[in-house]
Amino acid sequence: MEAFFHIVTPYLYEGGLKSKIVMFMGLVVVTILGSLLVYDTGGTHLPYVHLLYVPVIIAGFWLGIAAGISFAVFAGLLVGPFMPLDVVKDISQTTQEWLLRLGFFTLIALLTGMGAQITRAYLKALKRRYLTDPETKIRNYKGLEAFYKDAEHFEALMGIVVIKLRQVHDVEKAFGLETMSYVARKTKERLTEILPKGTLLGRISSDAFAICLENKKDPLKLAHHLSQHLERTYKFEKIPFLIEMYFGSSIQLKREPDSFKGLVRKALIAADHGFQNNLEVCTYNEETQDFSERNVYILHELREAIDQDLLSLNYQPIISLKKDEVIGMEALARWGHPELGMVSPLEFTGIAEQTQLINPYTKWLLKKSLSQLSLWRKDNLDFVLSLNFSMKNFEDPTVVQEIFRVLEEYEIPPQMLEVEVTETAIARNLSKAADILHSLRESGIKVAIDDFGTGQSSLNYLFELPVDVLKIDQVFIRSMLDNSAAEAIIRSAIMMGHEMNLKVIAEGIETKEHLDHLKKLGCDYGQGYYISRPMPVELATSWLNAKRGHLMKIHA
Ligand code: C2E
Ligand code: MG
Ligand code: MG
Repeated sequence: MEAFFHIVTPYLYEGGLKSKIVMFMGLVVVTILGSLLVYDTGGTHLPYVHLLYVPVIIAGFWLGIAAGISFAVFAGLLVGPFMPLDVVKDISQTTQEWLLRLGFFTLIALLTGMGAQITRAYLKALKRRYLTDPETKIRNYKGLEAFYKDAEHFEALMGIVVIKLRQVHDVEKAFGLETMSYVARKTKERLTEILPKGTLLGRISSDAFAICLENKKDPLKLAHHLSQHLERTYKFEKIPFLIEMYFGSSIQLKREPDSFKGLVRKALIAADHGFQNNLEVCTYNEETQDFSERNVYILHELREAIDQDLLSLNYQPIISLKKDEVIGMEALARWGHPELGMVSPLEFTGIAEQTQLINPYTKWLLKKSLSQLSLWRKDNLDFVLSLNFSMKNFEDPTVVQEIFRVLEEYEIPPQMLEVEVTETAIARNLSKAADILHSLRESGIKVAIDDFGTGQSSLNYLFELPVDVLKIDQVFIRSMLDNSAAEAIIRSAIMMGHEMNLKVIAEGIETKEHLDHLKKLGCDYGQGYYISRPMPVELATSWLNAKRGHLMKIHA
């Protein structure tokens, strides 16, 4: 499309007054020369007279209908009453003859002029549509870019604020396709109310707006202002919902090739960095740049690492604090990269989650861990294996099926698998989490809430979820001995868990004191460095072998 406009636009160009005068004069000369040629070649009986259609058509097309008709009359008269039909034989034209020709010239000028006018209007509308977002009727990315391709406009451009809307796609899936358009229109309305008159606002993608600032206005200041004043709640068919927004800004220091594109890209990186770090407003700088380069690099390398099976799993035991029993193992992903060193699973799963890569990763995780569990089971080492999932994992509906498929492939009863999901992830979309966890649990798979206590101030959500286990986050365990509030949280989590018939695991037990204190508080299970660090397969196997006879029996 862009290439099309690139080719067509110069021909559409109407030009300024100066170029029109130059063209007019040029056409006058061409018309006179044309009629001299007609005379020179012997008069109007030869086809040279048709050459005069050329200035008439050009005038009609570029200078408009009136100019076209003027040239038609001018040319018609030049080859009219004073131009002989045959110069050599000295035969004159009849009046009817030259008048008819003048009439044809005029008709052609009229048709060309009208045709050009219609085509021009049509192409203009087409171009406007191409540069405009159909839902909000403001410029789209191409529209903004086209505006700033004009050097004069570009020099005035100071910076950009990008507003990235999160979860619009989830909302769209929940409420239907029209919601996206509704959210876009509403956001545009709200932005127009807040922004000073004349600010250039565009919608650069289905879930992002951009505001272009001129006259040395500070985009970061505007981003903060918007973050404070822009309403985030929407109501569609009487159902209220919330859209999270992240504001990224970037400024133009010097003009570079592709500067506009660069400005937008940097502001988007800043908004993404903000999302990753829980900052609503973020500006682009070296750190955000490093972050994004690292992210892109990690994504690229992770893809290969998954394909080539370069990731591995460590296993950390979970034991009973009441009996001398091993309850299970938690599989924790490990990635040692030749250049980046050890990359934390929190980092790379977090990045993979934002792309489709999370799906191959999940498949890898299921296969790797369950094939290992099946080997252990064949050696009579039977226990519950815990796997960490993010809610994003389940966005692909085939993931749940894949879990069942791999369990079947390795002949592992579903009761031997525990799915850990963090409290924060669940809280983001409670009803969806409930649906997914229900379907897992119905088949016998266990469900644990990981990092319990860190995500939600209200605990009501627990009643809606099918849960077997609460894993109290390690921050509380670490500080419980000298912080009474942390201890109180653990105490109440244990009490509540038991009320609800759940088992409670304490994470991050690092000392004997921790262990003893948790036993005293009545905690069911424990996990931590004091019991064992996460171990590679061989070590985990020896550890399990040493505990043979103390593995909790599961009745599948
Ligand atoms: P998590 O599920 O809460 O796992 C426990 C983390 O605490 C692990 O960190 C473990 O090594 C660490 N840990 C265990 N005991 C102690 C202790 O006594 N003291 C201290 N200071 N730390 C202890 P790790 O392996 O770095 O994993 C971090 C997080 O990454 C995990 O937290 C989990 O949420 C996530 N993760 C790991 N593997 C996967 C995976 O395959 N998929 C997904 N989605 N997340 C994963
Ligand atoms: Mg976990
Ligand atoms: Mg945890």
